[in-house]
Amino acid sequence: MTEFPDASESPVIEFRQVGLTYPGPPPFEAFRPSDLTVRKGEFITVVGPSGSGKTTFLNIAGLLDTPTRGTFLLDGIDTSMLKDTERTTLRGRRIGFVFQAFHLLPHRSARENVELAMVYSGTSRRERPGRAREALVRVGLGHRTDALPTRMSGGERQRVAIARALVGRPSLLLCDEPTGNLDTGNAEAVLQLLENLNSSGITVVLITHDLAVAARGRRTVSIKDGALSEGDQVGGC
Ligand code: ADP
Ligand code: MG
Repeated sequence: MTEFPDASESPVIEFRQVGLTYPGPPPFEAFRPSDLTVRKGEFITVVGPSGSGKTTFLNIAGLLDTPTRGTFLLDGIDTSMLKDTERTTLRGRRIGFVFQAFHLLPHRSARENVELAMVYSGTSRRERPGRAREALVRVGLGHRTDALPTRMSGGERQRVAIARALVGRPSLLLCDEPTGNLDTGNAEAVLQLLENLNSSGITVVLITHDLAVAARGRRTVSIKDGALSEGDQVGGC
């Protein structure tokens, strides 16, 4: 297995003039050259309107897309130097993703949905049920492990999705509009859960178009027309 250096002193995310232009045609600069440093243990929110480049940013930070400009260091590792298989391994070991849509299999139980995330992670078949249960307990669903997503509330489904993101024991959680499909009460429960996970040491980056959600970050970065700028538009929320 690939060994990566333990870069515990390095920022988790470091963008140095990172940009991404989709090739098109016509070419489109969806993420304009931007600097950003996210340190271990931070909870940052990235806020901007629809189409401003939030998901593009998250895809770059999550190693799902490759910048066409600049340097992106993840835990001190220069990601431009990585082969595809190394990017995949690094992503699997360090990053958990939470999306607006929960992407759960409707006819599999909560526990099975979480277990499926371990199929390609090298976790032995024997270990998977225990690990899945542990992750579900961590999100407050220890009593719902056998429930089907179709019998769960939106908030519970998102918590299953968060358990699935946690099961690989990531150090960084990237959340793309995680409360976008939830009513106020469920959104609050999910935000509190993310805050608790952050308190336990996981670095959280949450992107949202909602200023009230953005204000929950301990630091806020704005994104507009594909460019990041440190939080100058959220004051007063
Ligand atoms: P947000 O998440 O803030 O709504 P996105 O990052 O999804 O914004 O999109 C930013 C811009 O990039 C949009 O104008 C979108 O149409 C464009 N875009 C996204 N993906 C692609 C792609 N694969 N090719 C070309 N343009 C894209
Ligand atoms: Mg988006």
